[in-house]
Amino acid sequence: MTIDTDLPDFPALLLTKDGDATNAAFGTMRHADLMASEAGGDVLVEVSHSSLNYKDGLAITGAAPVVRRWPMVPGIDFVGTVSASDSPDYQPGDSVIATGWGMGETHLGAYAAYARVPAGFLVPKPDGLSAAECMAIGTAGYTAMLCVQALEGAGVTPDKGPILVTGAAGGVGSVAVSILAKLGYAVWAASGRPELADYLTGLGAAQILSREEVAAAKGPMGKERWAGAVDVAGGDTLAQVLAQTQYGGAVAACGLADSLGLKTTVAPFILRNVSLLGVDSVMTPFETRRTAWARLATDLPKEALAAATNTVLVKDVLPLAGAILKGQVKGRTVVQIKDGF
Ligand code: NDP
Repeated sequence: MTIDTDLPDFPALLLTKDGDATNAAFGTMRHADLMASEAGGDVLVEVSHSSLNYKDGLAITGAAPVVRRWPMVPGIDFVGTVSASDSPDYQPGDSVIATGWGMGETHLGAYAAYARVPAGFLVPKPDGLSAAECMAIGTAGYTAMLCVQALEGAGVTPDKGPILVTGAAGGVGSVAVSILAKLGYAVWAASGRPELADYLTGLGAAQILSREEVAAAKGPMGKERWAGAVDVAGGDTLAQVLAQTQYGGAVAACGLADSLGLKTTVAPFILRNVSLLGVDSVMTPFETRRTAWARLATDLPKEALAAATNTVLVKDVLPLAGAILKGQVKGRTVVQIKDGF
């Protein structure tokens, strides 16, 4: 079977480059404009929801050169229904999720009524999560689960001591706090927004720390304070998180909200046996992705997810792209695509 490219045009948010500037405008696309894989095996998905992630903010505003193909449809994740498939793994009507794989960067992304992707980008939607809940989780929440799994793999169990989550009021942070609390960890939430303390406590945080206090210089090794950490910040924050991790602990590093840089010493590694665990959500192998999504359906309390979620129509998403880069977006933002233009 071949995916029909003569289907009716559909709405999309399109990014174009104008000198050094990025323009974002709503328009229409032809199915023939969607990217076909040379190897075949593509799946055409009618997108129901996407979400707003930090990387979408970078792409839409042009604040960092994450877009490497023009024009681009932003949106690094989606949930939707297969409408046509050249892959034996997916049939029309299947509910599917895609995160990463360069969508919104090198492959046309999710802020469009349809997406065409290789079957390898997809995982089946797990039972127990609605489409909207899947994108309330989205790339950020799924990354939070990968961080939790990384800490578990390093032997960080709830009895070892508290777990620090940096950028706790953001997308990755909010979901990480919720999952870790449900799993029985004492969660210390570090946030630059003291006014969101009640929100973080409601997600399950046992203690709130200020962003500045965590990142303040304490030398190569500070007091041992936490058994593990989920760090979304990088930079001085990550350096100080490592310096305050207790003997045998581990830090899952997934982000750069503070900085891409990391100036540290080897002291935490060679004197305290601390592990630094890198977490990437973009190219994760299929089985790891499927396991993470299955666990998200069971280990993330629905009430916490709802408390951490706002929903916007895609036609209203543009102002939020700048806000997420300024750390002004709370929790997760679902972007409704179907009937959202
Ligand atoms: P959000 O913008 O939702 O959250 C980031 C949070 O970081 C902010 O809400 C804020 O939380 C905190 N923050 C902002 N600025 C700083 C700063 N200068 N120093 C310390 N903390 C700061 O983004 P996401 O949660 O979606 O993503 C977080 C990071 O993880 C991003 O860097 C993103 O690129 C990365 N990421 C990486 C993935 C991967 O595959 N490795 C996948 C998904 C995201 P608060 O107000 O509570 O302090």
